[in-house]
Amino acid sequence: MQSDAHSVLQHVFGYHQFRGEQQAIIDTLVKGDDALVLMPTGGGKSLCYQIPALVRSGIGVVISPLIALMQDQVDALKALGVRAAFLNSTLDFEQVRRLEDDLLRGELDMLYIAPERLIQPRTLSLLKQVDIALFAIDEAHCVSQWGHDFRNDYLQLSLLHREFPTVPRIALTATADQRTRTEIAERLDLTQARHFVSSFDRPNIQYRIERKDGARNQLLRFIRSEHDGDAGVVYCLSRNKVETVAEWLCQQGINALPYHAGLAANVREKHQQRFLREDGIVMVATIAFGMGIDKPDVRFVAHLDLPKSVESYYQETGRAGRDGEPATAWMAYGLEDAIKLKQMLAQSNGSDQHKRNENQRLEAMLGLCEVTHCRRQALLHYFDETLEQPCGNCDTCLNPPETFDASVAAQKALSCVYRTGQRYGAGHLIDVLIGNRSDKIASAGHDHVSTWNIGGEFSADQWKSIYRQLVARGLLSVDMNGYGALKLTDACRPYLRGEQPLHLRKEIAKARKAATRKSH
Ligand code: ADP
Ligand code: ZN
Repeated sequence: MQSDAHSVLQHVFGYHQFRGEQQAIIDTLVKGDDALVLMPTGGGKSLCYQIPALVRSGIGVVISPLIALMQDQVDALKALGVRAAFLNSTLDFEQVRRLEDDLLRGELDMLYIAPERLIQPRTLSLLKQVDIALFAIDEAHCVSQWGHDFRNDYLQLSLLHREFPTVPRIALTATADQRTRTEIAERLDLTQARHFVSSFDRPNIQYRIERKDGARNQLLRFIRSEHDGDAGVVYCLSRNKVETVAEWLCQQGINALPYHAGLAANVREKHQQRFLREDGIVMVATIAFGMGIDKPDVRFVAHLDLPKSVESYYQETGRAGRDGEPATAWMAYGLEDAIKLKQMLAQSNGSDQHKRNENQRLEAMLGLCEVTHCRRQALLHYFDETLEQPCGNCDTCLNPPETFDASVAAQKALSCVYRTGQRYGAGHLIDVLIGNRSDKIASAGHDHVSTWNIGGEFSADQWKSIYRQLVARGLLSVDMNGYGALKLTDACRPYLRGEQPLHLRKEIAKARKAATRKSH
């Protein structure tokens, strides 16, 4: 069977070797077992289900939430001689009927289908009549209610196990911490699945985050000095900013194009095609751009606004350097970005729990901006992965930032967590530290704990930064299921006892001023 898979790899896809864990994943499916695959974007997830779908008898059913990408995927497979089709709301009645005929005659190798379509009784009874090689559930993190991509239809996919108990299933995602992984396994009824967790490290990407100080000019200097003539993506938060930055870059002689959801479909399409086909285009875009963009030689991804989470940052920067050649993930951030995002979040309509979750994600992103040790270590730590040595290929490794001795501050911050029972978020802890008499303080009696009012040397914002940095270093963990309570980790003990010195990023001392200064 292995040679079957290998010959499909060579003869259908034209590749010579499997990458990473592809082979083991494919073998698992071919054998008829289930798999849960966590692989970063660009890691090569598609082959993990496409090859076993071709090796096993019957049709491979791929469930994907991204209707916009189905056409591309199907076209790409057809070009390789694979009999692929998709079933979603864009098809008319006649097209659906023809597809059903092909399916029943066994003339399809692979069918891409939207989750809401799959769970319809008509589709299920159709699938019952054909031989199915496997089910692949792409973007499986959509079952997670804590994630920002939650889809109700995904929850129902556990029916696959009940309705088709003998068909192997593979769930794939690029975004899942340990908790989300467990959730995926439970909700999709994949408890017997073998887990394949690939490293998230992208060693060829150099990570750099600098303070905003005239961001557009910083960007221009970065492009001119390091990526003149290279293809790149510049992410901005708003459509308006996308337009003005693209226009400004063009005036400066950079080959830039705008891309956002407010542009007409044909303009978006044209810009995307130019980006893919021509050399050295800089795409200035909102996050509407990028889902499924597979351009190997993007040499840089720049952020002019803060991504809303570490997952987003990772995913967006991950579009650089897919060919394995050196690439740069560059960002300019200011505290005002965080304030803007928080305001948008506060005004959004979501449940309080959702808002708290998103707020914590944002705090984690800020924490990543403020780390003083290796950024790659911090980034991988966020995905529950340990990188033993500093990477030597990020800004903090290359130019260690200015720090201050925060041993005493950390001790205060940590013992405040301890004294209040590890049940409170940063806001309340800071009230205790700086002696803010709120109702919550009074009712909890926290004006009597030993850490009450011992932190007057820093402002609330500065303590916030200290807490974020402690979280980013793994000395505190955030309880994401509740109100974001901070809890001590084993790693924090020596700092709590004052046995180990700690240095934190110094610019927190200027944070207040920086936040009020105009930065463009
Ligand atoms: P993901 O879905 O994990 O983001 P893809 O499946 O789109 O990644 O694969 C990313 C790119 O890597 C694609 O261009 C794909 O053709 C290529 N690729 C995948 N596996 C291999 C391999 N074994 N050898 C060479 N290229 C591969
Ligand atoms: Zn590093």
